[in-house]
Amino acid sequence: MRFKILTIFPEYFSSPLEVGLIKRAREKKIIDIEVYDLRDFTSDKHKVVDDEPYGGGEGMVFKPEPLYRALTHIKERDPDTYTVYLSPQGRLFNQKIAEELSKLKSLLFICGRYEGIDERIRKHFIEDEISIGDYVLFGGEVASLVILEAVARLIPGVVGKRDSVDRESFTSGLLKYPCYTRPAEFLGFKVPEVLLSGNHAEIENYRRRVSLEITLKRRPELLSQIPLSERDLEFLRE
Ligand code: SAM
Repeated sequence: MRFKILTIFPEYFSSPLEVGLIKRAREKKIIDIEVYDLRDFTSDKHKVVDDEPYGGGEGMVFKPEPLYRALTHIKERDPDTYTVYLSPQGRLFNQKIAEELSKLKSLLFICGRYEGIDERIRKHFIEDEISIGDYVLFGGEVASLVILEAVARLIPGVVGKRDSVDRESFTSGLLKYPCYTRPAEFLGFKVPEVLLSGNHAEIENYRRRVSLEITLKRRPELLSQIPLSERDLEFLRE
């Protein structure tokens, strides 16, 4: 899958995209990431990307021309590109949207700053608008990284063991069960006996039950969105 990011701060992305599984996926050519500097699409000496809002008021707005030039350039090079503007006014990002986006061939994130982008670009040249939460950030850069990570780890080959993605919170429809590692006893706190038993069927049962319990306690609304077996319902009634 090909990711593209349009920003006025390309340097923001140098470290986060050069570590861990993202770095490995890029090296293995499972994903490709290109960062575009919006200032490269300006036509004046000072590379100005923003201007004052019509009608007055505080802040600056991204001008339409550099954005239009950048979008045209990117779409011409890669016509399959789906354009997402990061915005607190967009649809609220979740695992389902991550799964939807992971099926695309090419995904472009437009990172706003200041008061955002000229409305005519938003209205006529953007295919999707996504928010990462009900709060306002300085810019879309961190939001694009959040979405890129959530989408990239769903692409086959990015995470070594597919099983670990399928079992995660939200992917299975439930919150994930708690994990323990050695030592079996730490400051007097013990790992649940069943996990040391080697009995895989019992371990699976235990994990399913704990997942259901945690989900019921922390995010009960998730339980109504997935099919539950008779045994699940029994666990929940206990
Ligand atoms: N004036 C805008 C408003 O009130 O809706 C907020 C602009 S914000 C200061 C600047 C940029 O940050 C936005 O254009 C967007 O790209 C990004 N941004 C801020 N909050 C975001 C969020 N919750 N999700 C995604 N992007 C966000």
